[in-house]
Amino acid sequence: MKPILINEKITIAKNLHGRWGEALRTDSGISAQLREFSARVEASTYFCLLSGVARACRLCDQEEGGSCCGAGIEDLYSPELLLINLLLGAALPESRNSEKSCYFGGERGCVLSAREIICVNYLCARLQKTIAPEKLFQLQEANGSEMELLFLLHNTIRNFIRSTR
Ligand code: SF4
Ligand code: SF4
Repeated sequence: MKPILINEKITIAKNLHGRWGEALRTDSGISAQLREFSARVEASTYFCLLSGVARACRLCDQEEGGSCCGAGIEDLYSPELLLINLLLGAALPESRNSEKSCYFGGERGCVLSAREIICVNYLCARLQKTIAPEKLFQLQEANGSEMELLFLLHNTIRNFIRSTR
């Protein structure tokens, strides 16, 4: 079967958002999960900065020829995960910022709020060796908590759409 291109997935996500966005946002359970998820993403971002991981990845991107956010990683994203990003207020780009980079890489890093597992918890060998273990532990705890809720949110939204169709 022919794979769905990322711009087609974005169109599907925008259509889903147009059709279900209001109903999903006004559902009390889903809106509570969206709020809690945003708080967990903020916590992950905080520990990413505190640990020095954010800085190291920025240096790779700006001074060492590119980060790990390479072209093609966007293909891991489903329309449903992109829908969650729209519900969280993310603006999905109309085109790729750089040919060698992931479609969702913006001028100041990733434009997504809800990201795939590999995007959230990947750490290269250099970071695993150089970041203090207690800082890595805090970051991994926050990442785990973010991914756990994203899994639930994904299922809740899928079931909501299926049951109210
Ligand atoms: S994970 Fe490692 S190799 Fe990848 S961008 Fe960050 S510092 Fe660079
Ligand atoms: S973190 Fe964002 S920019 Fe990087 S690979 Fe993942 S989706 Fe793409």
